[in-house]
Amino acid sequence: MTLGGNPPAKPGSAVVPPALSNVRFTIADFNAVPAHSRGRKRQSTSGRDARAPSPLAKTMRLGVVADTHGYFDPCLREMLAGVDAILHGGDVGSPEILDELRQIAPVHAVRGNVDSPELNLPLSLTLNLTWLQVEIVHILSVPQSDLGKWAGLASRKGKPPQRRERFLKTFSESTGAVVFGHSHAPCLVNLGGILFFNPGSAGKKRFSLPRTCGLLEIFPDHLQATIKPLERYNGKLPERIRLEFDE
Ligand SMILES: [Zn+2]
Repeated sequence: MTLGGNPPAKPGSAVVPPALSNVRFTIADFNAVPAHSRGRKRQSTSGRDARAPSPLAKTMRLGVVADTHGYFDPCLREMLAGVDAILHGGDVGSPEILDELRQIAPVHAVRGNVDSPELNLPLSLTLNLTWLQVEIVHILSVPQSDLGKWAGLASRKGKPPQRRERFLKTFSESTGAVVFGHSHAPCLVNLGGILFFNPGSAGKKRFSLPRTCGLLEIFPDHLQATIKPLERYNGKLPERIRLEFDE
């Protein structure tokens, strides 16, 4: 346990007392925007209600991690310093990881396939972060490699494959970003106006994949997602992605 080192809580602040350390943070802090004005402007051909971001929305910076598998990398303290919250895409590994991350910012985590039920984490989470709705799941219902393939197809002329459409329909119409994990391979893809964000594994080295984490920045009119290496890496990481949302 590391919560003994917590700074004293301000009255009304969101610091969770040690006895409640396995109770996950609620999204109440981020729910100040009324439900009808939330959501993203979906680049859809169906002409359904397109909700735009608010120019008055504040900027939010979110740390994104996944697949820590019981290892807390001390570099995360510096990499994620000052973020408003941390999203964990599952395979946390132990409660100590959540305790460490909570020293940095409030944590929203889901349960991965190797996480014990004692961690008391939900299998999925939907958060409203200023104007952006984010869903977190550990495992996508399609292989991660399909996302890139489908995004490539969408940028050419022609009808997107039905499997892609069916997959996108598994998410809420208001969702603008999906955080996931499991493959340990970092991924940033814009598919049908939804950002798919796998920050890679922030745990110990496995396979030949780089150890990475991510940063999701929500600006009043666009999103920016970045993969950050947690070690020297000479290979290619997914490029920073920016999603614009017009009025
Ligand atoms: Zn997994």
